[in-house]
Amino acid sequence: MNPLFADLPTTIFETMSSLAREHQAINLGQGFPDDPGPEDVRRKAAEATLHGYNQYPSMMGTAELRDAIAAHYGRFHALSIDPQRETLVTSGATEALSAAILAMVRPGDEVVLFQPVYDSYLPMVRLAGGIPRLVTLKPPHWQFTAADLDAVFTDRTRVVILNTPLNPTGTVLPRASLELLATYCMRFDAVCISDEVWEHVVFDGHEHVPMMTIPGMRERTVKIGSAGKIFSLTGWKVGLVVAAPDLLRVVSKAHQFLTFTTPPNLQAAVAFGLAKPDAYFADMRAAFQRSRDRLTQGLQALGFDVIPSQGTYFLNIDIAPLGETDDFAFCKRLVVDHGVAAIPVSAFYDENPVRNVVRLCFSKNDATLDAGLGRLARALGK
Ligand code: PMP
Ligand code: GLN
Repeated sequence: MNPLFADLPTTIFETMSSLAREHQAINLGQGFPDDPGPEDVRRKAAEATLHGYNQYPSMMGTAELRDAIAAHYGRFHALSIDPQRETLVTSGATEALSAAILAMVRPGDEVVLFQPVYDSYLPMVRLAGGIPRLVTLKPPHWQFTAADLDAVFTDRTRVVILNTPLNPTGTVLPRASLELLATYCMRFDAVCISDEVWEHVVFDGHEHVPMMTIPGMRERTVKIGSAGKIFSLTGWKVGLVVAAPDLLRVVSKAHQFLTFTTPPNLQAAVAFGLAKPDAYFADMRAAFQRSRDRLTQGLQALGFDVIPSQGTYFLNIDIAPLGETDDFAFCKRLVVDHGVAAIPVSAFYDENPVRNVVRLCFSKNDATLDAGLGRLARALGK
């Protein structure tokens, strides 16, 4: 068997959600909302299932959804996108990432990544024969500098994989950092695979800047989005890819033998959803921001050291002040003994992990957050 997969552990999300079920824990681990998601979007999927076309759509996605993707990013980021030549629909951002990595990375190519790194990237880079070159981001700011980039970019660098807003840190990369990274992509002639699944989930007026909008990057960026995140329907697995025709053509060749296509009923609903008025997106953000604040304040009242979250469904706590040195052991105790599931952030590191940071998901209703806080209080003996 392929040792790459034979030796891989099950993902931390599956592991922690299984433990949460086993121990009837409040699950603040894997990122999914309590809220069932917008009813009109779900109704659209139901109608499309009952009355629509349910056979194979085009492998590129339905024309309706591809038009909607172009219009959506035109509206929010003033991007001018040709739906026919520059958009692709995949079965989740996970598939889009795999297709993009398999399409862009040749054996022996060096790939720049930032750790903490989302769990699917490295196995796919290695499957493609790529050689990872990691920039390590450290709490509480999780930023990189020109010196960090100097240390990893070489003449063999072909691809950079970026994630902003960043899961698990909850940080939104400022424009200046994107501009800095863009200068390296151009100098070393690298393509950027830009995982922007959290693009709409940003708080406190932080602005999500798509890498593709940075001067010089329009032709060398593969932009990846996820309807699951945009509509709080994480089980839907509808991925949105935008790239210049030369890049998209090759990504679609990988996609055609990963899944080929994506359920047409969900595509119809996502096309409808992408055209929702700006207020929907603003209200969604405001609701998650309220939940973030509720969990942050509750944790601070218990004495936890909260690392502020600027976006995503996640905030982090620093467990070093509690005398804890092993985030895995801490999370294991928390779920087994105290009934709260969380994610150890060292799971997102390939080398020299940070071991004092734990990720908590706040995309929950107030009752769930309060129950989680109650159990954390008992865990601290309060
Ligand atoms: N990338 C990042 C950074 C994510 O956080 C997630 C899901 N949480 C994905 C990709 C996968 O998205 P999807 O469920 O659409 O496959
Ligand atoms: N991305 C989600 C998270 O960070 C989980 C996705 C998954 O379970 N694969 O929680």
